[in-house]
Amino acid sequence: MTARSLNVAVIGGGIGGLTAAVALRRAGCAVDVYEQAPQLTEVGGGINMGPNATRILRGLGLAEGLDREGVRPAGTHQRRWQDGRTLQRAPLNPLCEELYGAPHMTLHRADLLAIIASGFPAERIHLGHRLVGVTDLGDGAEAWFENGERVRTDVVVGADGIHSAVRTALFGAEEPRFAGCVAYRGLVPVERIADLGLEIGSQSWVGPGAHLVHYFVSRGRLLNFVGWTEHDTWNREDWTDQATIERALAAFDGWHPQIGRIIAAADTCFIWALFDRDPLPRWSVGHATLLGDACHPMYPFMGQGAAQAIEDGATLAACLAAGAGDPAGALRRYEQLRLPRVTRLQEMSRANKTRFHLPDGPAQQARDAEWAKATDRSPDALRWLYNFDPERIEPATGAAAGD
Ligand SMILES: Cc1cc2nc3c(=O)[nH]c(=O)nc-3n(C[C@H](O)[C@H](O)[C@H](O)COP(=O)(O)OP(=O)(O)OC[C@H]3O[C@@H](n4cnc5c(N)ncnc54)[C@H](O)[C@@H]3O)c2cc1C
Repeated sequence: MTARSLNVAVIGGGIGGLTAAVALRRAGCAVDVYEQAPQLTEVGGGINMGPNATRILRGLGLAEGLDREGVRPAGTHQRRWQDGRTLQRAPLNPLCEELYGAPHMTLHRADLLAIIASGFPAERIHLGHRLVGVTDLGDGAEAWFENGERVRTDVVVGADGIHSAVRTALFGAEEPRFAGCVAYRGLVPVERIADLGLEIGSQSWVGPGAHLVHYFVSRGRLLNFVGWTEHDTWNREDWTDQATIERALAAFDGWHPQIGRIIAAADTCFIWALFDRDPLPRWSVGHATLLGDACHPMYPFMGQGAAQAIEDGATLAACLAAGAGDPAGALRRYEQLRLPRVTRLQEMSRANKTRFHLPDGPAQQARDAEWAKATDRSPDALRWLYNFDPERIEPATGAAAGD
């Protein structure tokens, strides 16, 4: 059996699901995507793409769209919340291209989704299909949808996000936990803040119980900001998805004036609650598996959630291409390769929440002193992360590819 004879149903048309669909199709599978929404959508805002992710997307034939819409930040700059003092700087481009053969990029999420979707036939994306159940049949899998449709296929891939219905069907219901953090997110037309003279890079401001990141997206026409603050509870009656600019400004009251200027220049501000789950011990049941936030949601404090979903899709395609005669075995291999790596990133992302939000005092001073001499954010120190090769699927057990 070759991958060409495998039928795959991907549930969810987000960044992870569509990347998997493109990669699986290129590996020879017959792929259909089932998305609950009436159209493909990504909530506004930006996304950071490390070279581990952009290299995969470029390899899938998507370089032209990335180069057209994406921004190549020259570096990252970490600053102190109150006085803007530099805590750490690290170069990004062109160093990432030299080291890893692909740039670090910042993009508007909707642009990124459209770029990935452009690599997949629109007629194989079935919109308005909300999955309600899936089961392994031993020699394949069956998925069924709220609209009454049922699909029998060789492999089902649940790429349906943190509230995954596929995950619930395979492993039982478990509510994600509120992570004690909310984000204020906005986009600012750059002409409104031209006088700030911002470098084409990513700036990260850290302070007590909060941090804020900003970078350019949409060919450099918009500045994206996301500011995280800690909260004990998330209460839908109190919080709405759209926050007022005043509320965001109040959350960063007392911070460096540049922060207030940027927030105030946005037309609207969205609020986003962060949810969390513990790592799963396994992702697959027979001919059904999971990828992306469906199986490993992570705090976005390594900027790797979507990047890891992209890696999942490429690895899954490589495993099914190599093991098409035994799809269930190929899914186990995929899971073995991916689990240690994403679990490590989940843990690192959690640790960064504490590290970024230290109250002023001895621990914060020790962190700042360490950052002043360390180069842990430099691309050459992140070889294990950025040098990932999804085609390297030989090891049956042990370290993840790219380690
Ligand atoms: C504020 C914030 C900033 C972030 N920044 C970054 C960053 O800079 N870099 C990075 O790499 N990651 C970042 N992330 C993480 C990243 O956004 C996620 O990890 C990524 O979007 C997950 O992609 P996914 O395809 O797995 O899931 P999703 O994007 O959630 O897509 C799931 C899809 O499945 C569909 N769906 C859901 N249920 C069903 C169903 N029952 N039937 C059919 N379809 C269904 C949904 O409509 C959706 O289209 C950030 C996250 C947040 C919250």
